[in-house]
Amino acid sequence: MPELFGYGRAVHVAIEKLHEIFNDRAPTRAEASNIAEQHFHLKHIAPSRDPETRPGAYENAKQKARQIASDYVHEYAEDFAQQRQVEVRFEIPARDCLITGSIDLLMRCDDAGEIVEAHVLDFKTMEGGADPLNNAQLEWRELSLQVQLYAKAAREVFGENAATGSIHLLKDNQRVEVPIDDASVGAAIENVEWAVQGILDQDFPMRPSPKKCEKCDFNRLCSKRMEQFRINAGVPPPILTPAGPRVAAAIDTAS
Ligand code: SF4
Repeated sequence: MPELFGYGRAVHVAIEKLHEIFNDRAPTRAEASNIAEQHFHLKHIAPSRDPETRPGAYENAKQKARQIASDYVHEYAEDFAQQRQVEVRFEIPARDCLITGSIDLLMRCDDAGEIVEAHVLDFKTMEGGADPLNNAQLEWRELSLQVQLYAKAAREVFGENAATGSIHLLKDNQRVEVPIDDASVGAAIENVEWAVQGILDQDFPMRPSPKKCEKCDFNRLCSKRMEQFRINAGVPPPILTPAGPRVAAAIDTAS
């Protein structure tokens, strides 16, 4: 069990609560910090018995969550005044599969309260660093695919005009825009359908690569012998990410 299992969720809940409670003005740093503290909970880590003089992992994580919430409301204050955030669950059918999940949407409304635009926003408890697009810790394929599927859901299920989409890296408060035009969303869906078809066909060839094998649980048992997909498996189009087009990890032997 990773020590901070559930931390990302705890931070996410705090951000959601802030948008729920403050829907016409931005909270102050102190208000944001208090909300993060009130809603902070880590199921698998016990708080210190002496949090004042001997704070442990739980207290340190809570302090960091308070800081993240405080920085977030300071940097993105206008989101609270002009937009409201909602989390909505969705189901969208694709070929031989059903894609389900929940989306965070930032809705911009006009003076009459009508929704003018929806922005798909995916919060991650990650750090972008000086150059998020070249940060080896960020897998832009996965991050982009997620936002693009959310954009499809926002448009098709809720009828919202999702004009933009982004990943919000909470640890250093960076928001990176992800392409959600028709070509990008279409490529994302084709990648999902390709992967689902492979699973249904039980087509699981061994695809070793230094980066994947290094972290794989089967590393010591596996022969790491390159195998090909079945002859008619086809190749999905590249996933369109803010860092440029990327082929699916299963066929990218360099990844
Ligand atoms: S060690 Fe084997 S199973 Fe694991 S990623 Fe590499 S090839 Fe795949």
